[in-house]
Amino acid sequence: MKRSEVDRSKLSPMMQQYMEIKDKYEDCIIFFRLGDFYEMFFDDAILTSRILELTLTGKQAGLEERVPMCGIPHHAYISYVDELVDKGYKVAIVEQLEDPKETKGMVKRDVIQVITKGTRIDSNIDSKSNNHIANIYDFSYCYGISYADVSTGEVYATLVEGEGDRVIHEVTRNGFREVLVNDTIDREIVEKLRSNYDVLVTIEKDELEDSDYSYIYKDIEDVRLVKTLKHLLYYILETKKGDLHHLQPCMVLKSSMYLEFDVNTKKNLELVETLRNRERQYSLLWLLDKCKTAMGSRMLKNTILNPLTSRKEIERRYDMVSLLSTEFILRDDLIHSLEKVYDLERLVGRITYGNLNAKDLLQLKSSLGELPTIKKILDDLHYDKTIETFEEVYSLLDKTILEDAPFTLHEGHLIKEGYHAELDELKRISSGSKDFILEMEKEEKERTGIKNLKVGFNKVFGYYIEVSKGQCSLIKEEFGYERKQTLANCERFITPVLKEKENIILGAEEKIISLEYKLFMDIREVVKRYVESFQKVAKIISEIDMLQSFSIVSDAYKFTRPEITEERTLKLLECRHPVVEQVMKDKYIPNDIVMDKTTNILLITGPNMAGKSTYMRQCAITVIMAQMGCFVPCQSAVLPIFDKIFTRIGASDDLVSGESTFMIEMKEANYAISEATENSLILFDELGRGTATYDGMSLAQAILEYIHDKIKAKTMFSTHYHELTFLEKDLKQLKNVHVSAVEENGQVTFLHKVKPGAVDKSYGIHVASLAKLPASLIDRANDILNVYEKKNIKKETFTQTSLFELDEEEFEPKINPIEEKIKEINPLEMTPMDALNFLYDLHREVKKKD
Ligand code: ADP
Repeated sequence: MKRSEVDRSKLSPMMQQYMEIKDKYEDCIIFFRLGDFYEMFFDDAILTSRILELTLTGKQAGLEERVPMCGIPHHAYISYVDELVDKGYKVAIVEQLEDPKETKGMVKRDVIQVITKGTRIDSNIDSKSNNHIANIYDFSYCYGISYADVSTGEVYATLVEGEGDRVIHEVTRNGFREVLVNDTIDREIVEKLRSNYDVLVTIEKDELEDSDYSYIYKDIEDVRLVKTLKHLLYYILETKKGDLHHLQPCMVLKSSMYLEFDVNTKKNLELVETLRNRERQYSLLWLLDKCKTAMGSRMLKNTILNPLTSRKEIERRYDMVSLLSTEFILRDDLIHSLEKVYDLERLVGRITYGNLNAKDLLQLKSSLGELPTIKKILDDLHYDKTIETFEEVYSLLDKTILEDAPFTLHEGHLIKEGYHAELDELKRISSGSKDFILEMEKEEKERTGIKNLKVGFNKVFGYYIEVSKGQCSLIKEEFGYERKQTLANCERFITPVLKEKENIILGAEEKIISLEYKLFMDIREVVKRYVESFQKVAKIISEIDMLQSFSIVSDAYKFTRPEITEERTLKLLECRHPVVEQVMKDKYIPNDIVMDKTTNILLITGPNMAGKSTYMRQCAITVIMAQMGCFVPCQSAVLPIFDKIFTRIGASDDLVSGESTFMIEMKEANYAISEATENSLILFDELGRGTATYDGMSLAQAILEYIHDKIKAKTMFSTHYHELTFLEKDLKQLKNVHVSAVEENGQVTFLHKVKPGAVDKSYGIHVASLAKLPASLIDRANDILNVYEKKNIKKETFTQTSLFELDEEEFEPKINPIEEKIKEINPLEMTPMDALNFLYDLHREVKKKD
């Protein structure tokens, strides 16, 4: 049964209430609170029962048929919501806004929050990564992008110029999982984000009116940025609904502030996860992250993805890393303290938004307790930022919150003794009376002579005296026992004295719970006043944590402090790939990467498996690390500040876009040469190999010439077209280098050593035999190679693809256009008419040829 097809006039009042809410939240799955359950109805029920493997039942709602329904217990809802949200759905939580016991008729219900991928703030989100929600506003000639992490309160905005692809680059590079767009945006962008990159996209028309959240954008002059921020904030406030004043004033980002690179570079260099398994282990982030706090880890991840371009700031970080390495005792103390600091940024989010519990305040206390020590260490290090220590907040929390307080705020046991006189008095009454009950049991046993008499408590009958059936005959009139309940083996009684005490105890306990709750809320209000100052401290702690991590890894892995030069010189001596080195240990061969003022292009030749792409990757990683403010895996390093990095390395995994690998390769090449400046770094690995030899080689040469003459960016270009090495003669800024290998008795050893000049031999067949292709096949390949080599004998050097020098007619299979056309169609997807037309065209073409 579909919701849209239902005769609403027949529905029960509750189902009408459901319908009204669902109308407003069409794109959400509604978790509708009914007593102790959240229930889903209609299509939501069918969908969720399938995804969450729940039993689909039905509910009487006034119609002939029952309405599809499924449900989950309210206390366990979070894990169900998580699963749905992870799969890209939005879940609207509908709560009862009135106590059913005190309400006549229908209980008022409404959405209290919508949970989405990008706005989650529960404790299940990854603590080492930010979780961003972004807005893209299309102004036709440029895009305004704003984004926020609702859990930490950070808000950013920037402008992006260029085609729609630039926006997609921004979204994927930043790893946004949920994006809002304005309704005039090019639908192709929306489609690509949804289907190629699994981004949750919502088209949002509304924007925030000026409100008490205007402080977030009030200092921004550019109306375009304000526009995108207002859209973003509208959505965030509409979904979260609670107090979000921990959102911070927006930071405007300019692309020139950061070393730019796109998502392919992020992936290919395995900056935050590996290409193959998409795991953090063996990524650069994994290697560098020795942070002690989640805040530090998040800052480190952001820094890897956004290295700096300000020389001053980069060198400031080097100074700190170097100082921390020299002052290693202070560094140890610092690490020790940081270990006790919790995620202040996210704690602050919970303080404001309200889902705070006593454990959070205890974590806050522990964190604040370390601040005086951290402050002293920072002063000793002459660190240029100083932190507040919030002694008064610490002492308030220390005086108030019980160390073993529970997660819930509704059971009491939150507040320490000695803080509030009335609370202490109530607790005294409550526990004193409890003693009285024990005492009473003893006294009653003596008074009545009934040995197995017990005094007990249950929620329905309160306190009672229990006597087993066998002993009931011993009860006398004068005891004053009044029968309350009869069970199988016993009877339960009350007496006036017991009732009186019960009133005192229960009254006191109820009062204790509500008083403790009120006191907790008061403490929260006090703490809330410090939110902005906590956020400032959190920023400083994140940075110092990241820097101590740089210092630790620099010492452990023998990284060196780079020297930044204003000249366009790159001189990395004994450079290593920091991650591969850790995996291979001593077997890793360091290499120099040198491009002086007059060298812009290194043309790298060498057999497959020699280490060409590793050589190129280590250069880019060194540049990124240097601009993060970290030391680098070299013996010595001199390098300029780069503005952008472009890479085309390895196979692209963009299989879903429906474009051929070669097309993607060319698009990426185009992106690089149209965006690169002379201050950029370009890495092209075997560009052009995806097409026929002549094609590929000509393209590679033309691209090299273009970069050489027009862009002048520092470029590393690996190729198996050995013929290109002759370019060194004409292109003055191009130098040949090669990765060497030696051959002895038919065995090839890769030395992984990069040397000046061009390579003289390829070892493709050897690599194939390493890959254990059948021996007969390898023998045949060697025979064919001999034929090629004989034909090439006049040349001084051999080429990998000897095909190049051979008669094309002989070796290139002829392409038959008719055959190609047939290959392109899918007969299963054609209508009979299309098929007939297709056949007709083919027929005409063949006839034309005749
Ligand atoms: P290519 O791009 O030339 O085909 P790769 O860069 O992919 O080669 O390297 C192939 C393998 O050689 C890598 O998996 C790595 O294990 C090893 N290798 C690369 N560079 C080095 C090096 N400098 N020292 C030791 N081993 C290396």
